[in-house]
Amino acid sequence: MAFEQIPKKDWYSILEADPSASVSDLKQKYQKLILMYHPDKQSADAPAGSVEECIQKFIEIDQAWKILGNEETKKEYDLQRHEDDLRNMGPVDARIYLEEMSWNEDDHSFSLSCRCGGKYSVSKDEAEEVTLISCDTCSLVIELLHYR
Ligand SMILES: [Zn+2]
Repeated sequence: MAFEQIPKKDWYSILEADPSASVSDLKQKYQKLILMYHPDKQSADAPAGSVEECIQKFIEIDQAWKILGNEETKKEYDLQRHEDDLRNMGPVDARIYLEEMSWNEDDHSFSLSCRCGGKYSVSKDEAEEVTLISCDTCSLVIELLHYR
C-alpha cells in the first residue's frame, strides 16, 4: 500500500480560525490578517519579524483564503482533512466495497462489524464521498472502495 503522504498546510490555523468557523468568520479573519501582513503596510507598525517573513505569511494567508473561501475547494479540503485525521488514528484494517457492508433500513446507513466487536458505519450520503471509516469503538479504520 503506497498512498502518498504530501505534507499539507493547515489552512485554518493560518487564518487563525477554527475548522468549524463559518465562511463569513473566515472572511473576517482573512481580511484582518491580509491587511496586517500586506507588504504595503510593512512599516514601523509592522508585526514582529522580517519583511520576508511577512511576505511569506501574506502569501500563505492569500492561499488559505483561496481554498477556504471557495465552497468547492473548501469541501474538498475538509474531506481531505477528515481523512488525514482518520489515517492518523490508525492503520487501515481492511479494504471493502460498500456492497460488503450491511444496509440498515432504520437509519439509512451501511455498517460492518469490527473485529473488536464495535461497528463501522456510514450513512448513505456519506458513503458517496467518504473513503475511510473509523470503528466506533477501537482505533481501526477501513477503507471504502468505490467502483469508478
Ligand atoms: Zn473496532
